[in-house]
Amino acid sequence: MRIIMLGAPGAGKGTQAKKIAAKYSIPHISTGDIFRANIKNGTELGKKAKTYMDQGLLVPDELVVDLVVDRVNQDDCANGYVLDGFPRTIPQAEALDKALMEMGQSIDYAINVEVPDENIVQRMSGRRACVNCGATYHIVYAPTKKENVCDTCEGELILRDDDKPETVQKRLNVYHEQTQPLIDYYTEKNKLVEVDGTIDIEKVFDAIVKILGE
Ligand code: ADP
Ligand code: ADP
Ligand code: ZN
Repeated sequence: MRIIMLGAPGAGKGTQAKKIAAKYSIPHISTGDIFRANIKNGTELGKKAKTYMDQGLLVPDELVVDLVVDRVNQDDCANGYVLDGFPRTIPQAEALDKALMEMGQSIDYAINVEVPDENIVQRMSGRRACVNCGATYHIVYAPTKKENVCDTCEGELILRDDDKPETVQKRLNVYHEQTQPLIDYYTEKNKLVEVDGTIDIEKVFDAIVKILGE
């Protein structure tokens, strides 16, 4: 099963992608996580990506496409994967389709998690990420057992720099300009399915499982 998660920043793509990956035993591939790991490790890619991410801008397509194409070619992707945060532009989607076609494959579903802009800033200001393992929480909607301590690894929780309200608004604008056109792109290819992302995390997941099958 090859799945793409679409939706605004903070819509819940990562939250649902992790649950999909666990239920269907496929890898969760998050380009945001890959970039943050590169930044943490001080790689050249990380240094380049950071200058864009800090401004709420997209990293240029040429720094993203090869990385994802290489990743989906790895052995653990043989039975599928869930892509979270990629593609984010039409050229990225076209490059992915081309690479998949060469492999004799295609995407099964692009799942659009719908959340209106009004809800997003609140979502993002409450998002907390573990500095150690990258797990994501929300101070109200997905709290940890102990305040400010990761449930899985006891790492410290932080508010991502790019989740501060001034950057979130910028990212939303970028989303509407560059990423939202993918909804039409996948609709035309008959791959788009939509779920309401404003309801409980578990209810969103139930809706996704209904689409993907038990
Ligand atoms: P969100 O949780 O808002 O969906 P991500 O963790 O997916 O954010 O991405 C964080 C940042 O990493 C983005 O704002 C962007 O700068 C960069 N990024 C991630 N994926 C891509 C991509 N496919 N193309 C370009 N930039 C990307
Ligand atoms: P994305 O990957 O699309 O940027 P995340 O999965 O990181 O989004 O979710 C953004 C924030 O909203 C996180 O703090 C997460 O815990 C919270 N969240 C995710 N889904 C829901 C939901 N259905 N209801 C309330 N909060 C949610
Ligand atoms: Zn952790």
